Amino acid sequence: MLKLLSSPHCFITPLLNPSRGRLHSIARASSSFTQTSVRSTKMDSESYMFGPYKIDSKEVFYSTRLSYALVNLRPVVPGHILLSAHLNCRFVDLTADETSDIWLTAQKVGQQLESYHKASSLTFAIQDGPQAGQTVPHVHIHILPRKSGDFEKNDEIYDAIDEKEKELNQKLDLDKEKKDRTMEEMAEEAANYRKLFI
Ligand code: AMP
Repeated sequence: MLKLLSSPHCFITPLLNPSRGRLHSIARASSSFTQTSVRSTKMDSESYMFGPYKIDSKEVFYSTRLSYALVNLRPVVPGHILLSAHLNCRFVDLTADETSDIWLTAQKVGQQLESYHKASSLTFAIQDGPQAGQTVPHVHIHILPRKSGDFEKNDEIYDAIDEKEKELNQKLDLDKEKKDRTMEEMAEEAANYRKLFI
């Protein structure tokens, strides 16, 4: 993983585009606020970085040149996935292209997952920085298909996303869903979602 020179907390993330079956890496050459050259290169590795975690490509079900969607280790509702930028920056560090790409991708992925899970709404959430509840320091949007009655009080979903709200999660009885899932479970879910984007 290469560190970008321009931004103290931006790193390059290797990525695979499952739809094209090849690997790329994204490098941004200068200031995070200036649109600069973005290049896409083939890589040998078949994994992505999500903050400090190495993500197997089996967990990734959709990607663009600038973002990738992965299933969640501890989903709080069925279909709770993460859409991640390829650079593990703060949200403010994304370029206009990266910001546009991640939200357009969120729209596309959210629509498919809402339909797949026979849900009727979507929650999109970003915890940007530790004081906002972020536990993985890498820009990512939580996408959660929502159904009537899935939470007694609608906004409790934000406490459920916030992993630090342990007490409330126990009250909501989310312990079971919040246990780490196996790679097999996650790979199977990702394989099902991948078919939605062919
Ligand atoms: P946040 O607290 O907003 O940074 O969200 C982190 C999210 O990443 C949570 O929903 C976790 O369940 C999820 N997560 C943490 N580690 C992994 C991993 N290795 N693979 C997939 N999801 C993860």
